[in-house]
Amino acid sequence: PRLCETRPVRTTCPYCGVGCQMDVYVQGGRIRHVRGAEDGHNEGSLCVKGRFALDFTAHPDRLTTPLIRRDGELVPAGWDEALDLVASRLLAVREEHGPQALGFLASARCTNEENYLFQKLARCLGTNNVDHCARLCHASSLVALVRAFGSASATNPMADLDNAEVILVTGSNTTETHPVFSSRIKRLARTKATLVVVDPRAVGLTRHASLWLRPRPGTDIAWINGLMHVILREGLENRAFIGSRTEGFEELRAALGPYTPEYVQSATGIPAVDLERAARLYARAGAATILYCMGITQHTCGTDTVLALANLALLCGQVGRPGAGINPLRGQNNVQGSCDMGGLPGVLPGYGRVDDDAALGRMESLWKTSLSKNPGLTATEMFATPQVRAMYVMGENPAVSDADVSHVQARLAGLDFLVVQDIFLTETARLADVVLPAASALEKDGTFTNTDRRVQRVRAAVPCPGQALPDWRILNLLGPRLGVSMGYDHPGEIMREIALAAPIYGGIDYRRIKREGLVWPCPDAAHPGTPLLHRETFPRGRGRFVPTHAQVPAEMPDADYPFLLSTGRVLEHYHTGTMTRKNEGLNRLVPACQAEIHPEDAKRLQIVSGQQVRVASRRGEITVTALLTDRVAPGMVFIPFHFAEAAANVLTNSAHDAAARIPEFKVCAVRIEPE
Ligand code: SF4
Repeated sequence: PRLCETRPVRTTCPYCGVGCQMDVYVQGGRIRHVRGAEDGHNEGSLCVKGRFALDFTAHPDRLTTPLIRRDGELVPAGWDEALDLVASRLLAVREEHGPQALGFLASARCTNEENYLFQKLARCLGTNNVDHCARLCHASSLVALVRAFGSASATNPMADLDNAEVILVTGSNTTETHPVFSSRIKRLARTKATLVVVDPRAVGLTRHASLWLRPRPGTDIAWINGLMHVILREGLENRAFIGSRTEGFEELRAALGPYTPEYVQSATGIPAVDLERAARLYARAGAATILYCMGITQHTCGTDTVLALANLALLCGQVGRPGAGINPLRGQNNVQGSCDMGGLPGVLPGYGRVDDDAALGRMESLWKTSLSKNPGLTATEMFATPQVRAMYVMGENPAVSDADVSHVQARLAGLDFLVVQDIFLTETARLADVVLPAASALEKDGTFTNTDRRVQRVRAAVPCPGQALPDWRILNLLGPRLGVSMGYDHPGEIMREIALAAPIYGGIDYRRIKREGLVWPCPDAAHPGTPLLHRETFPRGRGRFVPTHAQVPAEMPDADYPFLLSTGRVLEHYHTGTMTRKNEGLNRLVPACQAEIHPEDAKRLQIVSGQQVRVASRRGEITVTALLTDRVAPGMVFIPFHFAEAAANVLTNSAHDAAARIPEFKVCAVRIEPE
């Protein structure tokens, strides 16, 4: 690493998908302070996590040596011993049960280069059982946007929001999950754009909105179809766009008949007059953009809900132009990149399907081996079926992050073999047979791809602690032990192979990634990148209307479990808290898990703010602190999922979307009792 005492190291924030550029100042091998890069797309801004919470790198709990389980205890071991053991156990499981008995979880926190090597390892071992946390956040976007457009990703760069007259934000608590981007939304709402927020909770953006629609959780398809019903009724659809760039319009029109404003009001709780106003604002805007996040995707009907949003954008021609688009906001720093790299069971690097002979053949020639053309298991399937007997988890913590987590923990504990590669001894790592100590993003080189498809450099600022190694180096050492050729000297060399494997990255090279990054698709060395998608045509040709209908969530409140639980995040913490909960300042701000309960419900239950309460679902119970607030509607409770000791996912329902296999984190039934 470049240990620079006076000159900062320019790198990318290791937290959220905004991918802020930052200058890291180092002294004596430790991070001393951090500044937002004025010439980055974040224009010098950072949120509290990026600015103040990189000290996890020097935390005494960092893993500094490989660990091997002996007599039930994880004890220190050398790299050779640990890697030999990993290789021999994985090969033994494959020998006895076949390659489909192996399961791999890649990581949205690791670099593109590391995810590429990880899925290469899995596929060269004969299985496509490789997935990662996109399964839990935007798997439904991946399925839906491919069906509607032919590709699934944000259509517009974040800065292009300045061109939008109307900004429709739904199912996204942007202020807490993408803080720097939310500052842009707020500024535009103050100055020139009309902000419409659709969310069951009073999120940070609602007080900046011209219009806030508050649907009951799980009723999104009804209000989206209702918007389109009004648009058609009033002749506000974009006939020219529909005629020249779409197909399936008549089927959509027929499906929208029942979604009158009166029906939508009764189904969702949104007043008919507000629905009509939102429809006119969106359809009449010169340019309107949709921003959405997991409030839309984490449902059993997540794929259909994203399809409904795509229908809305196509109906009004609000896509493929500056200020007009549909933009899933990706949660973790590199969830876009880990998908691009093929960290998914059905697609190869660059989204060629594993069952497509041409795409598979290209990878077989590149890697000089034969590969399986059977789509692999998703992460949710790996935990739901006994087929997988050994797992390799790189930089993920499913023991806290997945739905119905007690079941997931039991599966992990019951595996024949579990290897976990991470920077801390996470709840998942504690269940492992072998733990491999990895470098953090501040200790290695590579690239991340942010939520608007911007490939940006990651640079080492400080040395790895102890014997920890970058994930790509670990894979480099492990691959040959498993018979998989690796032999890379630098992540830049891996990127050159990625450019051959993934046509959308064909022109991406470290020498070309300047301060503003390089946005895919970038097919060749002369291509400038493609910040705005679908200008002339869609990857599938015409955009496809796919009618969808309102559905009821898998588990609704009843007499035994009368409250509706929704889970999500808070600004101060990140994912399962492994990094942010090592920071003193953030822990002071948000030290523990709080359940948001409406004051009317609290009064009835005789609960006061700050009191400990038991929240129970059919799957388990946790104890949390009550926070009385009208951010939630009566009958609803909101709990963030960052806290392992009060894991919201003990409660959540693993019922999932049939197409995308994403669990329904946003709706399940719970009971609340004073402790
Ligand atoms: Fe990091 Fe996201 Fe905060 Fe930017 S907004 S500093 S990328 S956590």
